[in-house]
Amino acid sequence: MKTKAKFKLSIVVPSYNEEQNVMVLAERLTDVIAALEVRDYQVIFVDDGSNDDTLRNLQLLHNQDKHIEYISFSRNFGHQCALRAGLDYADGDCVISMDADMQHPPELIPDMIAKWQEGYDIVYTLREESKKLSFFKRSTSKMFYGVINKLSNIKIRPGAADFRLIDRKVVDVLKQFKENTMFYRGIISWMGFRQYGIVYQPADRLYGTSKYTIKKMFAFALSGITSFSVFPLQISTIIGTTISIFAFIYTIYALIIHFFTDKAVSGWTSILICVLFLGGIQLIMLGIIGEYIGKLFIESKHRPPYIVGESSFEKE
Ligand code: UDP
Ligand code: MG
Repeated sequence: MKTKAKFKLSIVVPSYNEEQNVMVLAERLTDVIAALEVRDYQVIFVDDGSNDDTLRNLQLLHNQDKHIEYISFSRNFGHQCALRAGLDYADGDCVISMDADMQHPPELIPDMIAKWQEGYDIVYTLREESKKLSFFKRSTSKMFYGVINKLSNIKIRPGAADFRLIDRKVVDVLKQFKENTMFYRGIISWMGFRQYGIVYQPADRLYGTSKYTIKKMFAFALSGITSFSVFPLQISTIIGTTISIFAFIYTIYALIIHFFTDKAVSGWTSILICVLFLGGIQLIMLGIIGEYIGKLFIESKHRPPYIVGESSFEKE
């Protein structure tokens, strides 16, 4: 068992329009960390192109306490890009990522660190089924994990959020990933290492409303699935083959009717149905192929995943 006595702790918090939450969270984190035996620490807030006073509040916090750092994006790049920026800038021996809205209780941090000190490289958390989350959130989240676990060969536990601790060596591996659209939950599960899961009770969002709109949730789910599975591409082959077999049987039937009976023609309905059905399937398949080609296109441009407008790191 390795012991990590005096270490530097980094905490990364993606924040999009969280002007009130960042103030409360900064204070709570400072309290929690004061009770820990750390050599040094930093709390990195990543302002994901907020259009409220998040950045101004972060500047205030940084001026009061240099342990609080911020990185501010030039526009909204999304939660996963904000996480990546945090990991790029963090220089602690272990890095904890969490949401800004207090749904991830800071009180869990000492437990996560204890597990890390026992020798685990990744300490992830599992959200307990809670009535505090809306029925919509619970059911869509369940559906998403069901689909992704069936379609890909990685297993993501339902309720796994981006609230986790990772060791420096895992951070260094993650930083080598050149994928433009990172899907951390999948990648962490795919990576291996010694992992430990802690169950927690999610709290209510303190201020504001969820920044994951239905559109963002859908994009996130689609990107997660297409990042880790080529099964959707194989659907067209499967459906195509099945339909061809039926078509072949039907052709034989039609020929028999044509040659051996006098009941031929009529059948306008069946033709119409076949044409519409096949047309629909073809469009869906084209859409799926388009998704992957779009992904190839975006990745092939090698654009930076985020652009920093300003940060507290430049000033040093
Ligand atoms: N977030 C972000 N960029 C976005 C959307 C969300 O940085 O485009 C942050 C947000 O500020 C929060 C975390 O990601 O700290 C999780 O978002 P939220 O709490 O709104 O999602 P939910 O808990 O409803 O799934
Ligand atoms: Mg939340």
